[in-house]
Amino acid sequence: MFELPQRATDIAAQVEAFFCQRVLPNNKVWEQQAHAGQAIPEIQRTLSAEAKGLGLWNMALPRLGDDEPGMRLTNLEFTAVAEILGRLEWGSHVFNCNAPDVPNMELLQLFANDEQKKQWLQPLLEGDIGSAFAMTEPYAASSDPTNLETRIERDGDEFVINGRKWFASNASHANCELIVLVGVTDPDGPKSKRQSLVLVPRNTPGINVVRNLPVFDHLSETNRHPEIEFNNVRVPVTNLLGEEGAGFAIGQARLGPARLHHCMRAIGECEVLISLMVKRSPARSTFGKRIDEYSSTQAAISLSRIELDQCRLLVQQAAHLLDTIGNKAARKQISMIKVAVAKMYQDIADRCIQLYGARGVTGDTPAARAFGKARAFRIYDGPDEVHLQTIARLEASEQSLDGLEHYLTE
Ligand SMILES: Cc1cc2nc3c(=O)[nH]c(=O)nc-3n(C[C@H](O)[C@H](O)[C@H](O)COP(=O)(O)OP(=O)(O)OC[C@H]3O[C@@H](n4cnc5c(N)ncnc54)[C@H](O)[C@@H]3O)c2cc1C
Repeated sequence: MFELPQRATDIAAQVEAFFCQRVLPNNKVWEQQAHAGQAIPEIQRTLSAEAKGLGLWNMALPRLGDDEPGMRLTNLEFTAVAEILGRLEWGSHVFNCNAPDVPNMELLQLFANDEQKKQWLQPLLEGDIGSAFAMTEPYAASSDPTNLETRIERDGDEFVINGRKWFASNASHANCELIVLVGVTDPDGPKSKRQSLVLVPRNTPGINVVRNLPVFDHLSETNRHPEIEFNNVRVPVTNLLGEEGAGFAIGQARLGPARLHHCMRAIGECEVLISLMVKRSPARSTFGKRIDEYSSTQAAISLSRIELDQCRLLVQQAAHLLDTIGNKAARKQISMIKVAVAKMYQDIADRCIQLYGARGVTGDTPAARAFGKARAFRIYDGPDEVHLQTIARLEASEQSLDGLEHYLTE
């Protein structure tokens, strides 16, 4: 294990206590309020105010300025906390540590000017508004962002946006006031210089939510994934984020910490699934034997523990590298955790469903939802194959092949 500074251990203990005493016991209340149509359930608002009062706020943003609210934990320090938040679907939201707001805040920290920070970063840091990131398009293979087609055309002092996006997570939520949109400003430029990022207020005329997309029939309460049309949407040219033509590079910068945080949360969720397997298997018997006495059950639990601990170490390593050498230099390790954690997450959710029998495929346990989320995780933030391609390319470029001929005796 990577040794965490005392400060991080203390904060993790404080978050653990708050989670166990205040958040987890209110899970059923949260579910009832969310299903009753409360966009941000009342209980979540109450707990967020309490967490903020305790200073347990914006824990995933190491670059916070002195006058900005939050904890300034390093990525490695945050690993211990993120696991706890990941145990519940809405856990991160209580502490303003949720996607897509955190990666969008990181982008604004890195590339926004003072005016843009005042307008968008400050209310996001306070938890007063939500945001979305709209890159993926239904008609473009978006694993390769250079394929995007949505146009951003200049008309005097304004940009005019036309196109269709989907899976713009959170864009249809009542709290969403900002869409960070990736589109093409220079269709004839070099492929990696064609795109720019523009800050689009959610209430701008011409933005039309076509539908919310379920993930395996499940419409998330915390994070809807809408398909959206942009019809002659006009924003001032001052809404450009960073340089014109730098959209591809800026979008890539966003994905390092975003992937890391998803992995950290998944590990926390998998810990819950393993505990649920351990709880259930001695409680039922078949053919004169308790289910935990079957070697297949023991293998399901043991393999889950092995894979989870392997992934935790890989994630800690990637977090340490993000802190010390930065996103770009750590991109191989980010791709490695993205592939390894998504697979582990899917496999553990699958085993948990199996051990719960028919109940496992219902909504009575978190396993079915976890399985759907894990399967989707193998696609969003880059499909498995794209990360495997990155790892293989970097592996080839890093390898020294000197002396290998001595191993080849024939
Ligand atoms: C739950 C969820 C949330 C999401 N949230 C957001 C969001 O907030 N904002 C946003 O912009 N997008 C979001 N996405 C979209 C996601 O990032 C894209 O779906 C992803 O980048 C893949 O793009 P695509 O769907 O166009 O697949 P395509 O690019 O069409 O690829 C389809 C398949 O082709 C194969 N493939 C692609 N490239 C290669 C390769 N190099 N080698 C081998 N095979 C390959 C893979 O099997 C891949 O799955 C979300 C998606 C999901 C499911």
